[in-house]
Amino acid sequence: MATSPENEHPRKAFGWAARDSSGILSPFNFSRRENGPNDVTIQIHYCGVCHSDLHTVKNDWGFSSYPIVPGHEIVGIVTQTGSNVEKFKAGDRVGVGVIVGSCLTCNVCERDLESYCPQKIFTYGSKDWDGTVTYGGYSDKIVVHQHFVLRFPDNLPSDSGAPLLCAGITVYSPMKYYGMIEPGKHLGVAGLGGLGHVAVKFGKAFGLKVTVISTSPRKEDDAINKLGADSFVVSTDPAQLQAATGTMDYIIDTIAAVHPLAPLLGLLKMDGKLVTVGLPEKPLELPVFPLVAGRKLIGGSDFGGIKETQEMLDFCGEHNITADVEVIRLDDINTAMERLAKSDVRYRFVIDLASSLPAQ
Ligand code: NAP
Ligand code: ZN
Repeated sequence: MATSPENEHPRKAFGWAARDSSGILSPFNFSRRENGPNDVTIQIHYCGVCHSDLHTVKNDWGFSSYPIVPGHEIVGIVTQTGSNVEKFKAGDRVGVGVIVGSCLTCNVCERDLESYCPQKIFTYGSKDWDGTVTYGGYSDKIVVHQHFVLRFPDNLPSDSGAPLLCAGITVYSPMKYYGMIEPGKHLGVAGLGGLGHVAVKFGKAFGLKVTVISTSPRKEDDAINKLGADSFVVSTDPAQLQAATGTMDYIIDTIAAVHPLAPLLGLLKMDGKLVTVGLPEKPLELPVFPLVAGRKLIGGSDFGGIKETQEMLDFCGEHNITADVEVIRLDDINTAMERLAKSDVRYRFVIDLASSLPAQ
């Protein structure tokens, strides 16, 4: 029998996959490897729906290869561990984020920055060590090398905690690295979606003044009254932009689509930092005059290493930080993706896999 996703590994698995750049997902039978000595098998309970899942199923970035089972905000229960695994045991609640592998020996891995390892293996759509393709968390189970499995804090719910595995660490890591955590400083959060709303919560936990920069006034009430932001700027209103000119120390830009940087740079004080984590499908135009004139910095950042992801989860446990979620069933995923494309979600869809899939 020819090798196919269904028979390339010994253990049957089930999920939903996109087959082409329409991005439409449908039921998909595939397989998972046997649990090796360093592996942890996880029964997936919840998986967040990240905008990167949407970019990937739609082939926005031009390197998608189908079929794709997306999902890299995974929380579930350990069902099996290999003989070398001491950190986890059956029954533990754990998380898996954006990567399931890296070389573990290069100088970036040695600095606990596995997400920057040239040989990192993404949780879905990547070549695994054995040459097979990785499939993500819109599925019933996953087998992951223990190094890439996170302990999930006891006090956090699995559904609203799941988005921390990507959205959470992707904003936490740059805030720490770029020093955007000095109490009393003013943080702008551009784009109030999955990443942005968690950035607001981290900003408040770090003692910052937080302003949301959003395309319309629709989310203002939520931003102030639910998420705890101090103020709100509508980025399409020149008067509001003008009033906030030169007031912010840092901006974290989580915008998922092509957008002008000039208005954001204008909001920064002298020496301000704009850090982008959003991944629009086309390059952004960089206006250099405001950078030069204000000695401003632009930086980027990805989703952080495993050690920092654990630190972030523990921080969220201590500060009771979770995402605001809309829990859906797997068969609602196509409608959810359509709504995500229109920024119509408050603020993360999370798939309840346990109740979406046939009993195992
Ligand atoms: P999301 O929930 O869709 O939020 C993105 C927000 O961007 C929207 O809620 C919207 O905010 C704003 N936005 C969308 N289209 C816009 C436009 N045309 N102009 C201005 N603002 C617009 O997405 P997400 O899951 O937070 O992800 C955000 C981006 O980060 C995506 O590109 C994703 O691929 C990327 N990402 C990067 C990493 C990394 O490693 N760096 C990790 C995860 C995700 P308002 O409604 O407030 O305007
Ligand atoms: Zn993500």
